[in-house]
This record gives sequence, C-alpha cells and structure tokens, in this order.
Amino acid sequence: MMFWEKDFETLPRKELKQLQLARLNKTLSNAQRAPYYRQLFSENGRSGKMLGDVSEVENLPFTTKQHLRENFPYGFLTLPQKEIIRLHSSSGTTGNPTVIFHSRHDIDSWANLVARSLFCAGVRDTDVFQNIAGYGLFTGGLGFQYGIERLGALSIPAGAGNSLRQIRLMRDYGTTAIHTIPSYLGRLYDVFREEGLDPRTDTRLRLMVIGAEPHTEEQRQRIQEMYGIKAYNSFGLSEMNGPGVAFECEYQNGLHIWEDAYFVEIVNPQTLKPVPDGEFGELVMTTLDREANPLIRYRTRDITRIIPGECPCGRTHRRIDRITGRSDDMFIIRGCNVFPMQIEGVLLKIPEVGDDYRITLENINDLDEMLIDVEVKREWFRGDLVFLDKLQKKITHLIRDEVLVTPKIRLVEPGSIPKAEGKAVRVFDKRNK
Ligand code: AMP
Ligand code: ZN
Repeated sequence: MMFWEKDFETLPRKELKQLQLARLNKTLSNAQRAPYYRQLFSENGRSGKMLGDVSEVENLPFTTKQHLRENFPYGFLTLPQKEIIRLHSSSGTTGNPTVIFHSRHDIDSWANLVARSLFCAGVRDTDVFQNIAGYGLFTGGLGFQYGIERLGALSIPAGAGNSLRQIRLMRDYGTTAIHTIPSYLGRLYDVFREEGLDPRTDTRLRLMVIGAEPHTEEQRQRIQEMYGIKAYNSFGLSEMNGPGVAFECEYQNGLHIWEDAYFVEIVNPQTLKPVPDGEFGELVMTTLDREANPLIRYRTRDITRIIPGECPCGRTHRRIDRITGRSDDMFIIRGCNVFPMQIEGVLLKIPEVGDDYRITLENINDLDEMLIDVEVKREWFRGDLVFLDKLQKKITHLIRDEVLVTPKIRLVEPGSIPKAEGKAVRVFDKRNK
C-alpha cells in the first residue's frame, strides 16, 4: 500500500476540480450561517449565489486575521455551541486571539488529513511516534496526536522541551519517528552529545517531521546530517486546522497541499491578483470540508509558490514550495526589502556558523542599522582573533551581496542567544516607527 487514501490522493485533476466545485458551493451556503459572512454576503448581494466554475472564486471577498479578531469569538461560527467539541486558539501579539471551533466532523476530517500526511512522509502503523510539540490550545500537540492515532502508530505525547526526558523516552520506548520544530533539533543534538550519545547510533530513529516555523533547505540538510535520517517538511496553520495542510512525500520536492480539503490560490500580496504557477506570492486558502468554522479566501500571509509539474509519487494534489517568509515579516531597511530567510540561507551555508542567530534593527544617529548576532560553532570559537576577524568579514560580505545592505556582524558563543519558548523569534525591530 502506497497511499493512505488512494482514491482521493490520486484523483485525476478534472475530477478533483469537480469535487472542489461541489465542496466550494457547500462551503458557501454553510458560511451564510455564520454572522460575519451572512452580513457580508447580504451587503454585497452574494447571498444564495453559487459558483458555476472554480475560477469564480476570484470574485469572492478575502478573509483576514483582522476580520477574525474583529469578530471574536463567535462571528465565524455556523453551528450552535452544542455541536462544537473543541476550540484551538493562537495568542495574538496584539488584540484578540484567533480562535477556530471544530465540530465532531471537523475533528474527524482533520485527524484523517494528518494521518494522510504522515503516511505520505513514510510513517506507518508499526512506528513509535514521539510528538515533541506543545499540547494545549496550540494545534501541534493534539493535531498530531489525533493523526498518529488515526494512522495507528504508537503515539508518545511527549510535549515540548526537557531534552533529557525526550532522549530518555526515545531510548526507553524505541522511538522511530518524531515531530518537532526545526529550531529545537540543534539544541536536542547538543544534549545528546553532552550525554555521550549519538542519535544516529544510540536511537532507533528512522525519520522525522519538522514544521511550524520557516526554515531553509540548508537548515534541513544540517538536521538530516546531525541525525542521519530524513526530515520531512510539515506545513499548517491554526486557521486551516493546524498540521495536515501540506506535507512532503518521499521525494522531498515540495509539499503536497490537500486540495480536496482546501481550495488554494497564490496571489500577489500587493495587487491581490493571482500569479501564474511557479511564481511566488501569498498563499490564500478556502476550507472545503469544514463545518463549524468555514473560511473563505483566507489570506495566510505565507509566501510560497506552486511548483509546476507532476510528482513522481503519483499524488495529483499540487505541491507548494517551502515557505520563504511572510508577506508581513519582510522588513525594509535602507530601502531594501529583506526576508529573514535570505539571511538564514547565507549563514547556514557557512560551515563555522552555529545553530542560532538574531537580527536586531536599530536606528543609530538617524541611520538604520542591521545588527546580526551569529553563534559560532564550539570548535571554532577558541579565541583565535585573526580567524574570528576573517570570519566576521566573510559573513558581512556574503550578507551584503545577498540583501544589498551591509550588516554589523557580532560573533557570539554557541548557546548564548536566548531561546524563545516555542517558535524561534529572530528579528527584533527596535527602530522608532
Ligand atoms: P500557527 O497558526 O500558530 O500554527 O502558525 C502558523 C504559521 O506558522 C503559518 O502561517 C506559517 O507562517 C508558519 N509555518 C507553519 N508550518 C511551517 C513550515 N513548514 N514552514 C514554514 N512556516 C511554517
Ligand atoms: Zn509526491
């Protein structure tokens, strides 16, 4: 067996489109039970109107995080509370949190998508799967939990943090697969080494799933070398359930995005017009199989592209590229648009550079400065000043060539950059705006 649901995963594109159209129309009529969409559709005269072709989605209004916040908590809910069995929310940096409600159908459909995704990356029911993610309101814990159970692997709901305990669990129960955020794996590796252990020989790990935060191909390569196993990219966002939205298959050539569950568009974030396949833009998604909390043309802010062509695995669902940034995390310094991922791409190609870095934007004497703290690998951080001076110059030049702004590089000891709880926060903008 190569697929979790062969019929859905390999559905010919023409039939997939028909399925999408039927599900889009179902979603549209269902959405009108939510106060927000009911009012919006009556204002713009769309009430009761159905689509004749999937391309007509372009005429529908976008939904943004701002809309979710303004209509917090129940404005997008289509069902009475009795029908709702769970909510997940992500804490807002400003204002109200974003909350998504799930009916029994929604939880069931989500669990199936995560199971499908894990299977796609090669996880089987014979695996022992340790989920190194926060359980609670965030989706990476329970989202994966239900998927692992649906797949039938032995789940270890380890939760995040406490590396010694993670390693202990892996060794006690013979963990073969893990899920975690990529920025944790360097830290975990150091603890392995401190304990005199090598994850390649002292565990039974055979694959891992990494996601929830942006990372580069270079970072993936490093992780794969450290652990001696493949790391598959997992993409999702709470507004679209959480994990199980798009996942890599054995070919690791982009992430299959499940088009029977989501209608996918890539738009230019300025003009909001669709871009051709292959071009980068903002990912916009419409839920196709969600009852309690349908979302129409939700602007994810994530920048990616559709990878043209077919995947040798036989799945017909298109592939998105790894997320290169967000249309809102891009920063502008001295007139240059900079994505943090460009800087990471440069840094992690340099073998002496360690696992973490931090970008601080400051305004000094009316001039914007980009200060980058860069951790240097232990074996290179030996007080050889000539060497460190050369390294600093090299990094400065490589970054200037990439982003066209000359950074101030400060080389720091490995482990000295404070780690955020959960996802890594790497850009600090201290300019007075
Ligand atoms: P949350 O809703 O808190 O789970 O955060 C979702 C966001 O995390 C997405 O919109 C992306 O910006 C980011 N994200 C999730 N998975 C990935 C991934 N595999 N690569 C890059 N960014 C990701
Ligand atoms: Zn594939």
